[in-house]
Amino acid sequence: VMASMAHLQEEKLRLQEQLLGLQEKLTSRENDELSLSLQLQGQVEALKAKLLEQAQEIGRLRSELGSTDVEKHRDRLVAENERLRQEMKTCEGELRELRRQQQALCRDCAHLQENAGLQERLSQLQREVEETRAKLGELDLEVQQKTNRLAEVELRLKDSLAEKAEEQERLSRRLRDSQETIASLKSQPQQIKYIIKTVEVDSAKMKQALCESQSRNQYLQEQVGMQRQVLKEMEQQLQNSQKTEAQLRAQIMMYEAELERAHGQMLEEMQAMEEEKNHAIEEAFSRAQVEMKAVHENLAGVRTNLLTLQPALRTLTHDYNSLKRQVRDFPLLLQETLRSARAEISQAIEEVHSTNRELLRKYRRELQLRKKCHNELVRLKGNIRVFGRVRPITKEDGEGAEAANAVTFDADDDAVLHLLHKGKLVSFELDKVFPPQASQEEVFQEVQALVTSCIDGYNVCIFAYGQTGAGKTYTMEGTAANPGINQRALQLLFSEVRGKAADWDYAISVSAAEIYNESLRDLLGKEPQEKLEIKLCPDGSGQLYVPGLTEFRVQSVEDINKVFEFGHVNRATECTNLNEHSSRSHALLIVTVRGLDRSTGLRTTGKLNLVDLAGSERVGRSGAEGSRLREAQHINKSLSALGDVIYALRSRQGHVPFRNSKLTYLLQDSLSGDSKTLMMVQVSPAEKNTSETLCSLKFAERVRSVELGPVSRKAELGSWPSQEQLEVNEGLPLLFPLTPVSPLGRAHMSPSPGHLSGRAASIRRKLQPSG
Ligand code: ADP
Ligand code: MG
Repeated sequence: VMASMAHLQEEKLRLQEQLLGLQEKLTSRENDELSLSLQLQGQVEALKAKLLEQAQEIGRLRSELGSTDVEKHRDRLVAENERLRQEMKTCEGELRELRRQQQALCRDCAHLQENAGLQERLSQLQREVEETRAKLGELDLEVQQKTNRLAEVELRLKDSLAEKAEEQERLSRRLRDSQETIASLKSQPQQIKYIIKTVEVDSAKMKQALCESQSRNQYLQEQVGMQRQVLKEMEQQLQNSQKTEAQLRAQIMMYEAELERAHGQMLEEMQAMEEEKNHAIEEAFSRAQVEMKAVHENLAGVRTNLLTLQPALRTLTHDYNSLKRQVRDFPLLLQETLRSARAEISQAIEEVHSTNRELLRKYRRELQLRKKCHNELVRLKGNIRVFGRVRPITKEDGEGAEAANAVTFDADDDAVLHLLHKGKLVSFELDKVFPPQASQEEVFQEVQALVTSCIDGYNVCIFAYGQTGAGKTYTMEGTAANPGINQRALQLLFSEVRGKAADWDYAISVSAAEIYNESLRDLLGKEPQEKLEIKLCPDGSGQLYVPGLTEFRVQSVEDINKVFEFGHVNRATECTNLNEHSSRSHALLIVTVRGLDRSTGLRTTGKLNLVDLAGSERVGRSGAEGSRLREAQHINKSLSALGDVIYALRSRQGHVPFRNSKLTYLLQDSLSGDSKTLMMVQVSPAEKNTSETLCSLKFAERVRSVELGPVSRKAELGSWPSQEQLEVNEGLPLLFPLTPVSPLGRAHMSPSPGHLSGRAASIRRKLQPSG
């Protein structure tokens, strides 16, 4: 605020200075103008004097009319006039120069605008002067013309005067003659008297002479009268010429008056111009005064503002001082605070460290415990779990009765599903049932725990079982927008591995294989058509391995997608119809997770086998032949072998027939020991698929219902029924007793031995001891 105040003061001073300068300029300009006007006035005065002189000269000339050469005077006057004009021109030049100087003076002035106005006014005045000058020129011309005329008239007058003088002379001569004659004649009558006397004496002769004399007298008298007449005429003429002279004189007077008038007009115009100039100056002055007043007012406002600002400034200064003090003290305060904060932080860090150590210890113990608990849980639940998933009815199912829904669920129990088959409602209980509306994510959530156990070094198998079109591939692979278990499992593995990266080094690699007609092919290999063999590890560990099976290390979802794509392309190039081919072969995705605990050096290896099985539908025996029949036989054999193995495992038999099929042989490691297996049984809900749905559900329930009973019981239980047997028993009472379901009167089909074929009956007989 102080700075602004100082600034304002400065501003004010500057403004005042400017004002003074302006005033000075104004007064100087006024002076200039005054001197100019005085000069002009002087010039006008001089011109006036000259005019007067000229008038006098004219008068003088008039008085000397005839005796002097008028033309010479006129020439002189013209020259004089020219000179005056020249003078006027120089005066104008001076005026212009002065004006230019003024302009130069006022160029930086704030009243430039006003000046421009004035200049405009001045130019207007100049224009007017020009006009007046033009008028003056006209008047001059007129005067010249009139002078010319006057000269002419004077000339004429002179001539006429000369004539008259002559005439007068002549007349006076004649008058003198006449008077002389008259005088002579007057002297004569005495003679006549005398003669008369003598006539009186001489009588007749005399009388005659008298008569003659009398007539002569008469004649002379007539002559005298005539002469008198002539005189009178002459006098008249004289009078006339005098009148003409008077007239001419009047004319001259008139011209003079006109000249006077023109001069007066010029003077008046000059006066008017003068007035106008004065008026303009006054106006400019008054405007300057008004501006000055405004500036003064502004100044007053600023002054009051300053007055009001002063208390604020005082408080501000006070605040500023206190702030300054605080700022001065701040570094000390900061250092102190920092010191204490640092101490606190290090203490807190120490505390956190110790808590962390404690927590880590607890966490490790918990982890062990969790693993143990999980294993216990899995053991309790059985290492083999069976889920069912019902796909939604799709367009491919057609319309009408065929596509009607035949599967219903239990609202209170998510492990139960009912199938309406040939008018009868059959219920099944599995470990979990997914209805058509279940999302991929929901399905994966149930599988998640199995997948993560891979990281802990467990082997896991997830199978998708079911007829073609029941949703196996959808569940395992899914779509690009909605991926299935395969991709989600790998993603989960990545994120889990990332979470443990602090202590563990993990490597995840994948292989993809296909089993078609009991031969194994590498889907990621360079030569996919090559048949691979499963061999025992030569190190004597009893482990199996497939020489030549390609394994890719993957680290991101992009890597997985690339691997999947590669596998797909390989699979597609090897067959004419991928859909058909894929439904008749087993597709395996083998994920191997190898871990190393950096602190202990402990190594783990877990395998996750994700298997999209061949379609479980039965091929009509009579219809199939050739390659189709061979395919069907192979599929039937391998699925039966899988059933056998699972059965043997769940019933803990001493011998598990892994070698009965390529699939079970390949997965031997992942199925035995404390491995975990999930069977996802896919079914279609459509009416037209109910018999296949029934078969699949029976398979599922059979896998699940194998009780983990005593060894003796395992021994008693025979082999797993083949696919053919399942087929034979379709629509018949269940081969194995169902696990007890909720008491809500589920429609279990009662056995009717009469329909059993010999082979099925024998199996049934075998089962009966177990109850
Ligand atoms: P499979 O592999 O058993 O022969 P697919 O997985 O190819 O059967 O499924 C057949 C059709 O049904 C596919 O068009 C698939 O998208 C669809 N489908 C299967 N399951 C589902 C589901 N849960 N939700 C939506 N569509 C499904
Ligand atoms: Mg499929």
